[in-house]
Amino acid sequence: MKQILIVSGKGGTGKTSITASLASYFESLVLVDCDVDASDLYLILKPEVQQTFDFISGHTAHILQKDCTQCSMCLNVCKFDAVKVGNKGTLCIDAIDCEGCGVCIWMCPQKAIEFPESLCGQWFFSNTRHGPMVHAKLAIGAENSGKLVSEIRGYATKIAKNQKKDIILIDGPPGIGCPVIASLTGVDCVVVVTEPTLSAIHDMERIIALAKHFGISTYVCINKSDINEELTQTIKKRIKVLDVELVGEIPYDTAFTRAQVQKKSIVEYSNGKTTQCIEELAQKLMSKII
Ligand code: SF4
Ligand code: SF4
Repeated sequence: MKQILIVSGKGGTGKTSITASLASYFESLVLVDCDVDASDLYLILKPEVQQTFDFISGHTAHILQKDCTQCSMCLNVCKFDAVKVGNKGTLCIDAIDCEGCGVCIWMCPQKAIEFPESLCGQWFFSNTRHGPMVHAKLAIGAENSGKLVSEIRGYATKIAKNQKKDIILIDGPPGIGCPVIASLTGVDCVVVVTEPTLSAIHDMERIIALAKHFGISTYVCINKSDINEELTQTIKKRIKVLDVELVGEIPYDTAFTRAQVQKKSIVEYSNGKTTQCIEELAQKLMSKII
C-alpha cells in the first residue's frame, strides 16, 4: 500500500480539484481529506457518511457556580484572560479563550472548577464513488488540527489494510505548519501543486524544503501553467535547482468550475486537453510509486 500526498503550500492553486480528478485513475483507493480546518473535497466527491466519530482533545475549565465563592483567584492566575466577569459580577470561563493549562484548577481554594475533555470536532468514515473516504471537521476556534490529521490518517491506514487497498490518496492542508507535518509523515511521495504566481512559487519552495527535510520523494505539478509563461519558466528553473521533478503541467481551464458546480471532477466532466494532462499526471505518479 502506497500513500500519495497532494499539497500546495498556498491555497487556491487547484490542489483539491486535482486530487479529486486523480481519484478517477486509481482503482484500489482510500481517500483522506487532511484539510481539516476548511475541507472541500466533499463538495466534489459527495461522500455518504457511514460512521461519525468525536474528536476529543485537551480540556476546558468550567466554573461550578454553586461551589464558587467569587474569590477571583482564577481571574488573577489565568494568563490567557479566559476568566471573564459576567453580567451579575459572577466569574465564568470563556471556552474559546481557555487553553486548558489547568492552573486555575490547582489554585481554586473551593475546588469549584471542573475540567472536562474538550470536543474539538468530528471526523467521518464515508463511501464515495471512488472508494472509502476519511474526512473531518474541526470545531470553530479549536486547535490541535495536527492531532486530528494523525487520527484520520491512522484510520485510513487501517481501512486500507483491512480492505486490501493499494493507494491512500491524501488531500493535504495548506501552509507548512503542524497539520502539514502530520500529513507528510510516512507518505511515499508528495506532489506540490503550484501555479505561476510569485506567492505560489514562494510557498512551493517552502513545502519542498519541508518534504526534503523528511526525506520524502517530491514532485511538482504546475496548474494554470499558461496564465504566465515567464513565471512557469521560473518554476521549472527553480525546481531544477532544487532537484525536484516536474510531473504535470495543466492549463488554465474554466471547466474546473463548471465541473464543481455539477459536483464532478474535471475528468468526469470533460474529455478536453486538461483531462489528458491529468491522466498523464496520474500515469507518471503510478510509475513513480510502483
Ligand atoms: S478560584 Fe474558585 S472559588 Fe475563586 S472565583 Fe475562581 S472558581 Fe470561584
Ligand atoms: S485552564 Fe488555564 S487557560 Fe483555562 S481558564 Fe484555567 S487558567 Fe485559564
